[in-house]
Amino acid sequence: MLVDSHTHVDARQFERDREAVLQAALETGVSMLVDAGCDLPSSRAAVALAAAHPGQVFAAVGIHPHDASTYTDAALEELRQLTAQPGVVAIGETGLDYYRMHSPREQQLHSLERQLALARELSLPVILHNRESHADLMALLREHAKELRGVFHCFSGDRAMAEECLAFPGFYLSFAGPLTYQGNTALQAVAAWAPLDRVLVETDCPYLTPHPYRGRRNEPKQVTLTAAKLAELRGLSNEEIAQITTENARALFGLDRVTS
Ligand SMILES: [Zn+2]
Ligand SMILES: [Zn+2]
Repeated sequence: MLVDSHTHVDARQFERDREAVLQAALETGVSMLVDAGCDLPSSRAAVALAAAHPGQVFAAVGIHPHDASTYTDAALEELRQLTAQPGVVAIGETGLDYYRMHSPREQQLHSLERQLALARELSLPVILHNRESHADLMALLREHAKELRGVFHCFSGDRAMAEECLAFPGFYLSFAGPLTYQGNTALQAVAAWAPLDRVLVETDCPYLTPHPYRGRRNEPKQVTLTAAKLAELRGLSNEEIAQITTENARALFGLDRVTS
């Protein structure tokens, strides 16, 4: 079995065939997935999806850096209440994105800092998005990550950045579809090196579709392609990588604890 550690199956791109997509994941051996909210409505949707698919779909609730301008203390309060629902395993996705800068930098920092505090208060792992914002994210984590654990989702940096990220104990690197893209040698070198007890795989679907389906909608069953690439880079079998990444996802998100 495999765990897709980061999806957006709640998104409108799955409006027409969400149940079929979840069924296809199961049939491909992708038995568990974490659906991450990006704002309040999608966090509510993730929680509803987890409730409808106990043991298969788990939810993370959070405010994405793109949506950081929607952050309010009342929104944080609702996120806190949502974490009491069954199947909620993390805060996120949150983080920083200075590439698109859909929300002002100051608001992204404020929203992230408040969500880190919430994760710490609730002893939940945090799912971090990081795009062209590495220095600020590291600075904030040095201040706030002491009792935190979490994942750098869709990790896309080089070895030096990976080492900085993994200097935070309890944090994992998650590899997505770009690992399979030709010419992505810096990222492949990270995946070939990273400690095996600190790696996860994900789709971030509907985005970041792995080779050879790049350009089409992504879905959880295709996490198998990224996992196969990781296995190839490590000289391990697909079964071994599946077992390793599943164990890691279980350890980080406590999936057994909440499985019904
Ligand atoms: Zn992201
Ligand atoms: Zn995402």
